[in-house]
Amino acid sequence: MPNDPTDTAPEEGVRDFIRDIIRTDLDEGRTDGVVTRFPPEPNGYLHIGHAKSICLNFGVAAEFGGRCHLRFDDTNPVKEEMEYIDSIQEDVRWLGFDWGEHLYFASDYFEQLYDWAVHLINEGKAYVDDLSADEIREYRGTLTKPGTPSPYRDRSVEENLDLFNRMRAGEFSDGEKVLRAKIDMASGNINLRDPVLYRILKAHHPRTGDAWRIYPTYDFTHGQSDAIESITHSICTLEFEDHRPLYDWCIENLPVPSRPHQYEFARLNLTFTVLSKRKLIQLVTDGHVSGWDDPRMPTISGMRRRGVPAAALRDFAQKIGVTKSNATVEVAMLESCIRDHLNSHAHRRMAVLDPLKVVIENYPEGQEETLTAVNNPEDERAGTREVPFGREFFIERADFMEDPPKKFFRLGPGREVRLRYAYFVTCTGVVKDEAGNITELRCTYDPETRGGNAPDGRKVKGTIHWVSAAHGIAADVRIYDHLFNNETPGADGDYLNDMNPDSLVVQEGAILEPSLADFGVGEAVQFERQGYFCADPDRTPDKLVFNRTVGLRDSWAKIQAKMQK
Ligand code: ATP
Ligand code: MG
Repeated sequence: MPNDPTDTAPEEGVRDFIRDIIRTDLDEGRTDGVVTRFPPEPNGYLHIGHAKSICLNFGVAAEFGGRCHLRFDDTNPVKEEMEYIDSIQEDVRWLGFDWGEHLYFASDYFEQLYDWAVHLINEGKAYVDDLSADEIREYRGTLTKPGTPSPYRDRSVEENLDLFNRMRAGEFSDGEKVLRAKIDMASGNINLRDPVLYRILKAHHPRTGDAWRIYPTYDFTHGQSDAIESITHSICTLEFEDHRPLYDWCIENLPVPSRPHQYEFARLNLTFTVLSKRKLIQLVTDGHVSGWDDPRMPTISGMRRRGVPAAALRDFAQKIGVTKSNATVEVAMLESCIRDHLNSHAHRRMAVLDPLKVVIENYPEGQEETLTAVNNPEDERAGTREVPFGREFFIERADFMEDPPKKFFRLGPGREVRLRYAYFVTCTGVVKDEAGNITELRCTYDPETRGGNAPDGRKVKGTIHWVSAAHGIAADVRIYDHLFNNETPGADGDYLNDMNPDSLVVQEGAILEPSLADFGVGEAVQFERQGYFCADPDRTPDKLVFNRTVGLRDSWAKIQAKMQK
């Protein structure tokens, strides 16, 4: 099983500033346990950036003997869908994490949050504002200019209670009124200039239906949800650093049952990749990709379909670490983690992507035999298999040259090569069609070289892979490359202009070793000399479809060497 969570080493001795904070909190008795949460908004599929956050939150909880909640931050019904709620749970589980019974929805707290909003109104710390969204923005001021109080800021408690109640009852239309905290319109932190706590949204919510006509904002929901769930360390990304004073203000000014703290870490950015949900949604809805799980997408479901093992993603998350400064990680580093994992776990098979037929003239017609092939040279326990061989077989078109240069160690007229696990063969003839295209090769084999070695000790420079013509099975092979050909998509304008036109090349009519029919969807395999692949669910009984996960060549080592220079 390529995705067995136990096949990565336990994350012993991982250190970063978050883990240091937690260790100190435990040592100094500020908390007696660790409770974290992963809080996705169900407005899209999870991507590799989320995987970083999942590995961090579930990882530290496990390391310190605590627990991690999965909480849906479902406060914006306009963008949220059940499909996303389901996919997110599937993806977190697939990554190897388990929230046990701790599945929560912010929408479960709507009644409590409403009561706390009323509490603030009663304390004179919140008011109903009639300014429009544009006016609120105008009045808010800028970094260099203090804000201006709304003319509605000093409404009486009674009037505010009445209006807020009527907002809930649906008496006003979207945007007509909001509830705002009354904090400080001159604060140096714009988030404290009377932030909006509730807005009117007459939208159907995937879980609460039409019960609510007003919805709390992220800022009014998140910390209080943390407090309800007794979260000790609320870990989020750096863009929320400026929101922390507001997070703390809410906790300090409400009768919440616990006092969580927020910590911020740098979000993951990857070269040649977009991770903004808005852009990912656009790629899907405008049909630039086949769906959220298109194997070129940086989504967890896309990577899973592409054949990326969960263990490789966890390993990647651990390698990039957790820091407080934003940086962009080379996508080659991710690919290197994937390749490392597949190299030790994936079985090897032979597959000819661009077939050229070869006939062995001195091999008896109608004869067949099976040869023994090693499943994984990196792992003896993977054993061996039998591969059928006969008079006719296919090789890769690129493994033959009619007029080869000296350094070409593959097949050419009069040249001898080793067929992997089989025999030495020598090319004796080239068959062409009327247009001059090579349609077939003729060769002879040396029966003494069965298994791939000559008893007389003679050597050949090249070993090529092959598939028996009588036994091979047909497949389309999808060769994927980066979805964008700009290291920073959109750096020079619209990111869509940076889409790589060759991000998917379908190699139709590939011929595979027959045992590849037994590979399950998503199960990793190395096509010898080509790369790592897995079967795609698009396959039919007549034709298999394989996705290339990554090629064999590691560009990461080269990049690292360059960086060290
Ligand atoms: P949006 O732009 O819609 O807010 P988001 O990417 O922040 O999207 P959320 O569903 O709010 O999506 O994210 C859930 C959690 O994942 C949050 O705690 C967020 O900080 C974290 N997260 C999101 N993107 C990344 C990223 N690129 N790197 C690390 N963590 C991330
Ligand atoms: Mg977010």
